[in-house]
Amino acid sequence: MSEHPNEPHGGSLSQRLNALRAAVLGANDGIVSTAGVVLGVAGATTDHQAIMVAGVAALVAGAVSMALGEYVSVSSQRDSERALVEKERRELADMPDEEFAELVALYVNRGLSQSTATVVARELTDKDALRAHLDIELGIDPDEFVSPTVAAASSAVSFVVGGLLPVAAILLAPAASRVIITYLGVLVALGITGALGARMGGAPAGRASLRVMIGGAIGLLLTYGIGMAFGTTLG
Ligand SMILES: [Zn+2]
Repeated sequence: MSEHPNEPHGGSLSQRLNALRAAVLGANDGIVSTAGVVLGVAGATTDHQAIMVAGVAALVAGAVSMALGEYVSVSSQRDSERALVEKERRELADMPDEEFAELVALYVNRGLSQSTATVVARELTDKDALRAHLDIELGIDPDEFVSPTVAAASSAVSFVVGGLLPVAAILLAPAASRVIITYLGVLVALGITGALGARMGGAPAGRASLRVMIGGAIGLLLTYGIGMAFGTTLG
């Protein structure tokens, strides 16, 4: 723990870290896609109300889509993990000897000697056979099933938190400078979320944050330019 503060160590720590990381990524999504919408619209029109409506619609649509996507993906992952747990439970009941031999073989594969592997498998089987099999065969911890509802709600919330920044910036800044203020504010925010996300994943923060900022800078310039092109064509 003291040597590698970023390394997930199993249990609730890694789960909490994953949740935090998902929140940072969700906020990042919210910043980029909402900024794209409001800057694109601001490129086409100076109408304050049109920009506000577009910003709110982008926030709502993004939050709904994040929540749905997360719900579906976490639910199906949980379903397949539950099915695997059931299968393992059945196999343990139907053929305990074969399963014991399998467990010993898996520990031998990991580098234990036959005799040590047998002792380890024996003790783990006596304690909680199902847990031992799920751990080494499937990498599943039955206590760590993530709730799809919680995952959906937290990704929607983090999207909105991130997306509020460009919406607030473009609505509150003076009309003459709102595009540049929003643009710069978004780049700073992207630098921060990029660094946070990288740190939680154990990657170097500087490079990740630079990558996200350059990507965001180019992407937002493009959306603003396209908005301006449409604005002149339509207006
Ligand atoms: Zn097994």
